[in-house]
Amino acid sequence: MNLILLGPPGAGKGTQAKTIAAKYGLLQLSTGDMLRAAVAAGTDVGRRAKAIMDRGGLVPDEIVVGLIAERIDQPDCRNGVIFDGFPRTLAQADALEATLKQKGKALDAVVELRVDDTKLVERIVGRFTCAKCGEGYHDRFKRPKVRGVCDICQSTEFTRRPDDNAETVTRRLMVYYRETSPLVGYYYCKGTLKEVDGMGPIDQVARQIGEVLGRTK
Ligand code: AMP
Repeated sequence: MNLILLGPPGAGKGTQAKTIAAKYGLLQLSTGDMLRAAVAAGTDVGRRAKAIMDRGGLVPDEIVVGLIAERIDQPDCRNGVIFDGFPRTLAQADALEATLKQKGKALDAVVELRVDDTKLVERIVGRFTCAKCGEGYHDRFKRPKVRGVCDICQSTEFTRRPDDNAETVTRRLMVYYRETSPLVGYYYCKGTLKEVDGMGPIDQVARQIGEVLGRTK
């Protein structure tokens, strides 16, 4: 099964992608994570992407399409993939369709996480992550059980994304509504769109996604 998680920044795509991936044996492919890894490694792609990401813009289509096309050939994508943060433009959606077709694969579903826009900035600005195991936390909604210590791996080092500040988030939201939200109508017309209320607790949203996918394991 190959599926797309669609929704604005802060909708919970990354969190849900991890949950569904673990539940159904799929691989989470986040173009944001791939680009951040490229920036950290100082690759050519990373150098081109960094300034754009820092100001909340979109990295050129050919870069992200290239990253995805290369990645889905790897053996760990055989069981299926959850695209998280990709596609973000109609051109990326067309390129994904062509790439999947060329590789004899198909897109099974597009899950739109519907959220209350007024809550998004608050959701994003408080986010932080364990630097060691990547577990996600939030200043208000999900604090570590022991202050300053990761619940999962007991590390005491945490990171915050440089683009998770109020100014950049507002720009990322604007970019979402201009460039990415037309994909909702596009996939609706293709008959692949499934809507899920993304405002509930993490488990509840995950259950709803399982239900719309017809898998309630
Ligand atoms: P994310 O982790 O999905 O919030 O992505 C972080 C940043 O990476 C975005 O604000 C964009 O600058 C860039 N990015 C991630 N995925 C894409 C994509 N599919 N197309 C263009 N830029 C992207």
